[in-house]
Amino acid sequence: MGFKRRDGFIGCLPQKFIDNKVEKCPMCGTNDPHWKVDEKMGWINRYLFLCDKCNCIISASIPDVTGFGRTPLTTLGFAKMLSGKKMNTIYIKIDNVGSMQVTKLNEGKEVSLEELNDMAQLI
Ligand SMILES: [Zn+2]
Repeated sequence: MGFKRRDGFIGCLPQKFIDNKVEKCPMCGTNDPHWKVDEKMGWINRYLFLCDKCNCIISASIPDVTGFGRTPLTTLGFAKMLSGKKMNTIYIKIDNVGSMQVTKLNEGKEVSLEELNDMAQLI
């Protein structure tokens, strides 16, 4: 695998998700992040999103993106419940701040989609 645009039919779901939900990069503030998508498999599989402008990487769990992680009956839902997270909230992790080292303090943080977009507005 590797980061690439997923504009084709297969795998277009995460591409649509990130393009529609995060229109502005929360790290460098570009209005055209041209997100590239990758996947990371683990206990909870995740989609990784790479900003074309600053190379920051943010990620969301695949069930959150596809909409199956919002009940306690799923592994992710259960994990959320255990850690006191809101079931209906999509959480985005800031895996790498890329070239915007001023935002380094945000690295490794997990924020809700709303908070992430608020961050983008502040840049
Ligand atoms: Zn960026």
